[in-house]
Amino acid sequence: MDDAPIPPGTLVIYHGSHADCHGLHIAMPCLCGNCGTLQTLSGETRYTLQDPSGLTDGLSHVRRASITPHTRGEQ
Ligand SMILES: [Zn+2]
Repeated sequence: MDDAPIPPGTLVIYHGSHADCHGLHIAMPCLCGNCGTLQTLSGETRYTLQDPSGLTDGLSHVRRASITPHTRGEQ
C-alpha cells in the first residue's frame, strides 16, 4: 500500500515541496494541535521529519504523500 501509515521512527525519503530538505529523514507523527485535529476529523496523519544526524529539527506537518519509506536496498 503506497499510502499506508508510517510507524514512528521509520527512515523515509522526503520528496515534497521543500526541495532543500529532500533526502533521508526519520518520520515521527506530528503532535501539534493542528495535526491532531486533522487526524481526528479526517483520519489523515501528518509527520515530523528529523534529521538522522540529529543536528537539525527538520520539517513538521508533512503530508504522507510527501514521504516514502526507505527500503534498505537489495544488497
Ligand atoms: Zn503538525
